[in-house]
Amino acid sequence: MKYRRNLAALAAVVLIGGALFIALSYTSWNRSAPIHSSLIDKAQALESADSDDSDRPQELAEDSLRLSFIDVGQAHALLIQKGSTDILVDAGRHYSRNLPAAMDTITDSVDLLFITHPHADHFGGAAGLLEAHQVDKIITNGIRRGPPMDRSVPATWNTFEEAADKANLELQSWEAGHREQITEHLSIEVLATGGDFDSRNSSQLNDDSLVLLIKYGDRRILLPGDIEVAGGRMLVDRYCPDGPSDCPALRADIMKVPHHGSSHFHPEFFKAVSPGVSVFGAPHDNRQHYHPRRDTLRALVDLGSRIKSTNQGGGKNVEVIISPAGELTWNIDDPEIFVWDDHGAEYGTTCRLIVDETSRKTSKECESHRTR
Ligand SMILES: [Zn+2]
Ligand SMILES: [Zn+2]
Repeated sequence: MKYRRNLAALAAVVLIGGALFIALSYTSWNRSAPIHSSLIDKAQALESADSDDSDRPQELAEDSLRLSFIDVGQAHALLIQKGSTDILVDAGRHYSRNLPAAMDTITDSVDLLFITHPHADHFGGAAGLLEAHQVDKIITNGIRRGPPMDRSVPATWNTFEEAADKANLELQSWEAGHREQITEHLSIEVLATGGDFDSRNSSQLNDDSLVLLIKYGDRRILLPGDIEVAGGRMLVDRYCPDGPSDCPALRADIMKVPHHGSSHFHPEFFKAVSPGVSVFGAPHDNRQHYHPRRDTLRALVDLGSRIKSTNQGGGKNVEVIISPAGELTWNIDDPEIFVWDDHGAEYGTTCRLIVDETSRKTSKECESHRTR
């Protein structure tokens, strides 16, 4: 009898539990499926449609140069490799985010580590890097950060300096105009470094970024850090005496889009650079800073630039191999990238999500936005 009652109770529990499970699955499926889930699915489908090899670094011949714009989210890290030379420009926010795999491809030590400016999304991963790898030289823009300048992350810069100290490295800086010949055909020029702006606030700290021009044979790669409007204007004033339409000193085949594709850019700077290819380093579906912005992408596309982005297909490294003859081989085709417009986002050619920035409610509008 007791056994039977228990059995009945068990059956009731199973029945009620099952009903609850079905009901909850249904409601949570309905509620939690975000409007853009189909877009994310599409992104994942695009990702898996790519060849499996696209996630692995392309084979690097001894005489070629490889640039890997590493997907470090809302942050920056670029690995430049030629023969046994390995140079890193910025180290992301956290070393653990995709840097270890990229650093597996280096020959022995990191010959040069550049920190473009003291924002944590550019130097945050440097302490971890210094623990994991030998670094031979560190070049910064000469601006230190830490208390009392940066109360929000008071210890971070100090942690980086301590790690450098432990590795017996001094933070050095190169003046604007400095040119370093790395190998026979590879050189790095400093177009700007810290000290041109007051650096008291975040925008000025961005404008004060170390700006580097990499030359490999006839190819020119411009790395403008996080410069915004004032930094862009200063570069045009300094390097374009004949105006932005005729400015060979800033012209580049590849440009890392400054400040993760923020809308605070100087149009004349973009015009002066007229990049053949613009690379956005920004995370997929970034709702913290809403980078990259559609007007930034549009300005570059209007100048005839092709676009690459680390947010393609939900996030991946963007890589290019440059042959000695100057031929560029990219690891991804022109991507459908994720950009935000003033009130929301679009995903490539398919749908745009309109996000009401006050209520954070989203709605979807589908139309064609092919970038090129
Ligand atoms: Zn940044
Ligand atoms: Zn910054």
